[in-house]
Amino acid sequence: MSQSFLNADRRTSDLEALRDGAPLDLLVIGGGVTGAGVALDAASRGLRVALVERRDLAWGTSRWSSKLVHGGLRYLAQGAVGIAMESARERHVLLTKTAPHLVRPIVQTVPLTPQIDAKAERFTRVGFALGDGLRRLAGTSASDLPRARRADVDELLRLAPGVARDGLRGGLLAWDAQLEDDARLTVGLARTAALHGARIVTRCGATELSGDGARLRDELTGESFDVGARAVVNATGVWAGELVDELRLRPSLGAHLVIALERLGGLAGTLNVPVPGEPHRWVFAIAQRSGLAYVGITDEPAPGPIPDIPQAPQADIDFLLETLSGALETPLTHDDVLGTYAGLRPLVDRDDDSGKTADLSRHHAVIRSGGGLVSIVGGKLTTYRRMAQDAVDAAIEAGGLADAAGPCRTRDLPLVGAAARDALAAVAAPSRLVDRHGTEAPAVLALAADDPQLLAPVAPGLDVLGVGVLHAARAEGALDADDVLDRRTRIGLVAADRARAHPVVQALLAEARQASAV
Ligand SMILES: Cc1cc2nc3c(=O)[nH]c(=O)nc-3n(C[C@H](O)[C@H](O)[C@H](O)COP(=O)(O)OP(=O)(O)OC[C@H]3O[C@@H](n4cnc5c(N)ncnc54)[C@H](O)[C@@H]3O)c2cc1C
Repeated sequence: MSQSFLNADRRTSDLEALRDGAPLDLLVIGGGVTGAGVALDAASRGLRVALVERRDLAWGTSRWSSKLVHGGLRYLAQGAVGIAMESARERHVLLTKTAPHLVRPIVQTVPLTPQIDAKAERFTRVGFALGDGLRRLAGTSASDLPRARRADVDELLRLAPGVARDGLRGGLLAWDAQLEDDARLTVGLARTAALHGARIVTRCGATELSGDGARLRDELTGESFDVGARAVVNATGVWAGELVDELRLRPSLGAHLVIALERLGGLAGTLNVPVPGEPHRWVFAIAQRSGLAYVGITDEPAPGPIPDIPQAPQADIDFLLETLSGALETPLTHDDVLGTYAGLRPLVDRDDDSGKTADLSRHHAVIRSGGGLVSIVGGKLTTYRRMAQDAVDAAIEAGGLADAAGPCRTRDLPLVGAAARDALAAVAAPSRLVDRHGTEAPAVLALAADDPQLLAPVAPGLDVLGVGVLHAARAEGALDADDVLDRRTRIGLVAADRARAHPVVQALLAEARQASAV
């Protein structure tokens, strides 16, 4: 069994080692993309690391994103050149080195409808040209991500067949990158951290942090225990303020709709539509290989207690439907909405006497709280690697770990399943398995060797096979049907699909448990 495999047995042994073992170099709290990235960075530098997550990997914001790996253009538009460059560099790393199996190019289409006048068209072209400049500076070749260009009406309609014809002047095209899925990236990071020796324990929450350890609770038994560590990294996202008093977070909510791709006539890539009266704001639909499209995004303050699972408000749903419909031949209706999801971005009240708040959804902050305690808040999924590097650098300094730690290695460290794009194209397995599992796809397929029924979808029309469920429990740390439906796969984004698949997934997991017990 690979050292990267996470499962119920591994959780038991990792938890025992955590409870009874020697103090750690670094304890990471939170199993989102940031915490998993920190665990990988620290473990690959040779530190003794454990990560604890109160619920499941990617339980929080890391499963509610737009699933894009941004090249930084949006930050350039806000004048944030440094952040834009950092995004473009991190996109290059993910796309070409660390995760080509989970990150791929995506064409963004901007249809030149009558809503977009000549000035707005010029502005968008200049923006796309600057985006190209960032790509080149980051070292990404035009064969990895093609140059931005104009499309005539025929090409635009081939890419975005649902667009309204009346007054259409063609379109502008620019390439960015898209994730197969945000939660899968998080799980891939956690597994790669495990491969490098990190202990990854889900259903284990931190109830108190200090500069030299934490009080943890096994959420399955209710038992609490203390763990010592020379440094502790608080990577609990919008919950970070619950553990560190001086951090005060005021989240803002971003909502998405889930619709059938065919409702947009089989969109390729993204369809970007300007919000009327707000020149720099766009609504977009993003095509998924699963046959769905995600439509986003909103940005509204969400004061009050932080919910476990944020909900998309009706006003956001109406706004997204109406804005996207403005560019479509046949407007969308509420009946087209198969599902919705929403996530929280952190806004932080900085305790630095300035009285200022900072929107950390643009850049991240590394905050030291005394002893070896470091919090890492904000940032983007795209820049998780750089955030992890900064957090581990700070933890090494705060915990006096310089003697034990090597230099950061993650820029060149492929995640489990990664390979160059041409090698991925040659993997002997169906393409949707390769999309999700990369080079592990043949091994996933082989789980059906004694039972070909495992090659059937878990419900008619879904692209998740029985073997995918077994692999989730065997190697990806899924402990129950919810983990499989809502994070290892994204079947749960459409409630009707979830209901159809639930009993099948549960039965497969029960069989897998029985098989591992004999
Ligand atoms: C609507 C929306 C769309 C976005 N789209 C994009 C995008 O397209 N591209 C991009 O690059 N970025 C995007 N982002 C940003 C990106 O999603 C976030 O920056 C990122 O997911 C944050 O990850 P995190 O690990 O810091 O937090 P989280 O994913 O929230 O992880 C925190 C984890 O800590 C756990 N936890 C909490 N308390 C405890 C405790 N006491 N003990 C143990 N564990 C605990 C939680 O269960 C959770 O799993 C988007 C954000 C939003 C809100």
